[in-house]
Amino acid sequence: MAQLVLVMTVVLTLSGLGLFVLGRVEQRHVRAIVHSEEEALGRTLAHTVALRSETMGNYVADYSLWNDMASFAQKPDPEWAKVNVDASLLSFKLDRSWVFDRTGALRYTTGSRVDEQLPGAPEGLKGIFSEGPFVHYFARGRDGSLVEIRGSLIQREDDRERTSEALGYFFAAKLWDARYVEGLEPLLGGSVAVLDASSSCDAGAGIGKTRSDLVVDDARGSPVARVCAAVPNPVAELMLGSRATVVRGFLAFAIVLIAIVVVSLRFFVTRPLRVIHGALAGGDREGLEHLRTKKSELAELADLVVRYEESVEARRVLQEQVHHAGKMASLGILGAGMAHEINNPLAVVIGYADMLTAPDRGGMTAAEVDQGLKTILAAAERMKCVVERVRDFSREGPSPELKLRPINEIVERALLFLKGDIDRCGIDVALDLADSLPPVACDEMRLESAVQNLVANARDALGDKEPGERKTISIRTERNASGDRVSLIVEDNGSGIPKEVQSHLFEPFFTTKDVGKGTGLGLAIVHSIATEHGGTISFTSTPSRGTKFVLELPV
Ligand code: ADP
Repeated sequence: MAQLVLVMTVVLTLSGLGLFVLGRVEQRHVRAIVHSEEEALGRTLAHTVALRSETMGNYVADYSLWNDMASFAQKPDPEWAKVNVDASLLSFKLDRSWVFDRTGALRYTTGSRVDEQLPGAPEGLKGIFSEGPFVHYFARGRDGSLVEIRGSLIQREDDRERTSEALGYFFAAKLWDARYVEGLEPLLGGSVAVLDASSSCDAGAGIGKTRSDLVVDDARGSPVARVCAAVPNPVAELMLGSRATVVRGFLAFAIVLIAIVVVSLRFFVTRPLRVIHGALAGGDREGLEHLRTKKSELAELADLVVRYEESVEARRVLQEQVHHAGKMASLGILGAGMAHEINNPLAVVIGYADMLTAPDRGGMTAAEVDQGLKTILAAAERMKCVVERVRDFSREGPSPELKLRPINEIVERALLFLKGDIDRCGIDVALDLADSLPPVACDEMRLESAVQNLVANARDALGDKEPGERKTISIRTERNASGDRVSLIVEDNGSGIPKEVQSHLFEPFFTTKDVGKGTGLGLAIVHSIATEHGGTISFTSTPSRGTKFVLELPV
């Protein structure tokens, strides 16, 4: 999977880089081609415009170097003008001509479409001929139309060099109307438009065209208009076409790549995941086994799943074994304890019963027989007590019915049974029962028995005290800080509990007391009572300084 992602990333990055570099190179080529084509178009435009106005230039030059014209400029003859000027204007397809005398006064004008006044003529015609005998300029007519004008000094025919003083001025004009401008288009092979000099030719131009312009000036050399030409650019069109091909190619490539990704994801990810999911949902184990033999991250995952399930199963088996062993161990402890506890009194019973059933009662006196019977009774009671305690400890059947009871009352009642005994032992009992404790849900009798067990143990722990030494048992009830539990604390200043026995305290039949005195079931019973009530039992003990048991119950 990681390899797949890596391959995809490398392919995409390389393609992206390749496209970027190709794009840059292509852009530079296109820019160079377009630039050279623009220059060529500019040259063609200037050439075409010049070529078209050359006829007008020749016409003006010819007519102005003519003796008849020189005379006409001094003394105009309308008849002569009609034949020579008006007719020639028509045949040269010009729109107007003007004849000025040597002082610059207009002597004759003919033609139409262009104003009678010479457009763009600066005051004093001489000024515009400062550079030479010919002028060529553009001007706006009164209606804003563009007019091309050519002018010349009128001189005699023999002054071919045009060095003599001007005898007059001759001008001809061509109106750049729509037809004239359209006439330029076939020559250039594109569209032509005349705009203001300040306008830009780019506006409205189409894509895939080469554009160029020519600025035409007035008599003073200031721009008057901009002639814009736009011709189709097959190279640019080709480039655009090839770019479209590249884009289409890239799209196809991307689609193929995406298809590969989708198929690979299906093959390498979705399918294995489905197999793992199916196996986890309790189905296809075979697929999982097959998958883990492959080499991929998901195969490793499948392997982990199989191993995890195996470990869960192994743990379950182990737990069962431990549980079984625990049951066996408990049974063993219980059996051994019971055997130990019952064995001694049973031996006493058998011994005395044996003697008392002998023919002469074993030579016993009546008092001895009586004593023997009492001993048998005591031993039987002892066995009954052990059996009852075992039954108490391993109580089965329905859980006790818990009722809400005030714990202080239960403590006081439990103490009643032990009071005489405690007093006899010279023990001081300090009772400190907290006021207004909430009632606890409990089985009264069982809880009473737990209190008795704890107090009885405290009493026994004080038995070893030297006469005269103070023996105290402190019994307290209190509510914990969070208020959800009530504690019963039984504390004595007795012998304490040696470290080495502390971990066995709650085991059934564990006792340090003399044979016949302890059964080792007291704390085991307290523990099971605490558990039944959702509570806990814990202790702290300092050997030789005393022990403190805390029974905590939920309120
Ligand atoms: P038993 O009292 O029959 O021995 P328990 O289960 O009640 O059985 O107690 C087990 C052992 O715990 C006792 O034999 C004793 O060694 C120890 N023990 C219990 N309570 C105390 C106490 N308050 N001080 C010292 N030792 C104690």
